[in-house]
Amino acid sequence: MSDRRTLIQGLVRPLRDFLFPPLCFACERLLGEEEEIVCAPCLAAIRSVSEADSHYQDTLDSLASEGTISGLVAAYYFEAGGPLQTLVHQLKYSGMTSVGSFLGERLGEKVKRELVGLHISCVVPVPLHLSKRRERGYNQSEYICRGMSSVLAAPVMPKMVVRKVYTQTQTMLNSEERKHNVAGAFALRGRRPPMMKNATVLLVDDVVTTGSTMRSCARVLMEGGAKQVIACAVALAM
Ligand SMILES: [Zn+2]
Repeated sequence: MSDRRTLIQGLVRPLRDFLFPPLCFACERLLGEEEEIVCAPCLAAIRSVSEADSHYQDTLDSLASEGTISGLVAAYYFEAGGPLQTLVHQLKYSGMTSVGSFLGERLGEKVKRELVGLHISCVVPVPLHLSKRRERGYNQSEYICRGMSSVLAAPVMPKMVVRKVYTQTQTMLNSEERKHNVAGAFALRGRRPPMMKNATVLLVDDVVTTGSTMRSCARVLMEGGAKQVIACAVALAM
């Protein structure tokens, strides 16, 4: 960082923090010097995923069941009423995209620890349908990808996959209905993009529930020539 930029930041940050004190996005407590986006107690209250957990194994088995997804990296559990739920809501419904980058950095660090030495070709967000994207103004998963990209130094490819079908919200559906709901919902932009050939792709979503969306999306990446698709999620639904 240049001295000039450091100097300007040194002057601007105290003023900004005075006018707009940084608050935790989960509990609205004033953040300390060393904290950003989320306070330490909230971060500590979010349960991390361990690869030894049976819920992690079950989700991985479900994702891998069609042979299109070869791995899963998930950072946290999504618990109703917990701080992560508030953070995901801030990201999805209140336009707080910096929360996405923050969570993406945490997820990227986990990918770095879990997939040591793996060359990652690109990071691809699960796309929203164009009309949903227009309504929200952005795709929350793209911000998670950006955070991951800053840690992993792999490019984000936000337009690689498109969502052709406007699917109804999956929240009230069971696993069979979800599967039917997203079957054939995705397509590659361009039939076989050159950069997909033999690519190792990280496919990214905010919260994974049954994995039907991820599987449907991974299928088009594999059909487009990818070598492997690894599912990455900030959180696993409980
Ligand atoms: Zn907090």
